[in-house]
Amino acid sequence: MATDKQTTKKILMLPWLAHGHITPFFELAKRLSKSFQIYLCSSPINLQAINPTLARDHSIELISLHLPSLPDLPAHMHTTKGIPLHLEPTLVKAFDMAAHGFELLLDRLAPDLVVSDLFQPWAVRSASSRNVPVVSFVVTGVAVLARLVHGFWNNGQEFPFPEVDLSEHWVSKSSVRKVCDEVGHDWAMRFFECMRMSCDVALVNTSPEFEGKYIEFLASSLKKKVLPIAPLIPQIEPNNEKSEILEWLDRKTPKSTVYVSFGSEYYLTKQDREELAHGLHQSGVNFIWVIRFPKGQNLTIQEALPRDFLTQIEGKGLILNEWVPQLKILNHSSIGGFVCHCGWNSVVESMVFGVPIVALPMQLDQPYHAKVVECAGVCVEAKRDGEGNVKREEIVKAIKEVMFEKSGEALRGKAREIGEALRKREEGNIDEVVDEFCKLC
Ligand code: UDP
Ligand code: UDP
Repeated sequence: MATDKQTTKKILMLPWLAHGHITPFFELAKRLSKSFQIYLCSSPINLQAINPTLARDHSIELISLHLPSLPDLPAHMHTTKGIPLHLEPTLVKAFDMAAHGFELLLDRLAPDLVVSDLFQPWAVRSASSRNVPVVSFVVTGVAVLARLVHGFWNNGQEFPFPEVDLSEHWVSKSSVRKVCDEVGHDWAMRFFECMRMSCDVALVNTSPEFEGKYIEFLASSLKKKVLPIAPLIPQIEPNNEKSEILEWLDRKTPKSTVYVSFGSEYYLTKQDREELAHGLHQSGVNFIWVIRFPKGQNLTIQEALPRDFLTQIEGKGLILNEWVPQLKILNHSSIGGFVCHCGWNSVVESMVFGVPIVALPMQLDQPYHAKVVECAGVCVEAKRDGEGNVKREEIVKAIKEVMFEKSGEALRGKAREIGEALRKREEGNIDEVVDEFCKLC
């Protein structure tokens, strides 16, 4: 365990530029701040995702890393809610160009340890060249990484891929295929370079409860000690402010409602949105649906939905186009299921609150995450058709399986069991990280 002596050791943390990354980094920072002096650096816009009062309460110093202003940097980078879409090539370029600023920061702070995300090898290189050890922190599930390692590195020869064959799942989604073909190789190379240059300890925001064999696979193939440290989710702050959403949920019966949301960056097409609308209505459950539109699409909720839909669902459905308190919603007793894209944070949050998932994965790692939770017995995927389109019948079928009768009870029971196991791990996980970090610095 850490002693007071360690609180003088400095740790500099650098997450990738996305909401889904900065949140777990900040949660880890809060937990480590009892034992170390923590500095968290990111672009000014990304730092807006962090509550400065909480950072101050934990004595975490937030440091702005300025990105060069490139002429074609997307406009949404300049909005207040605009945590940018992280695969935007110009953003990647801009972040890579922040390398010099990061070096100046390393020289000014002289940290004892750097904790870095997976897609900025320049950060690992700069720290290593100054003899500062770097620990890689994977904020997503690791089945997808096991697949990358298996596919790109070992060529299937040296290490057998864990039992569950995800390859079919991976290639069956045309959108996934496309993105993988277009950017997968570059992302994989970034990941491998970071892993190769960083320390023998890596942190992963997952848990043996659902990714045990992938954690083991990564540890043996990367030859690292891989520490699973999920869950890293914020504490729900009690407040007495009135909330339309929570009051609406208060009026519903226990486990009668599904929460429908696709994270901070993804949007449904018009056609998929309409299918989902019909599916939700036909399933007969209550629902809270957070609809989001890409920047520049100035639609109203009414315009975005089938004719008369809002009248038909009155009292049964609450549809919002805003940032909602997801944790408080998942924690509400009226929620019985979560229709989501399987962004990793959403998956972990759902598990912590014992809420089974109806998966509608969209791209990248999401189909993997969906498969992982399905294998863990806490998720039913609403299958798309051959063209990758959402089908209302499949939505109805999946929601009914999750919300009703025996199948729903089994899924909920398993989700509750995983949630309890995750909560029990919380403290021990961090003690282990602190011990490992003390050995490194
Ligand atoms: N990834 C992938 N193929 C790609 C791009 C990314 O398998 O073409 C993997 C990447 O290795 C990482 C995961 O997808 O493990 C998540 O990447 P990202 O940071 O983009 O995800 P998100 O913020 O959506 O969780
Ligand atoms: N989130 C939220 N309110 C919203 C939408 C999202 O609090 O209206 C949070 C959610 O709780 C999660 C994160 O944003 O922590 C989304 O991360 P995830 O990995 O699920 O998806 P991504 O946005 O990276 O695709």
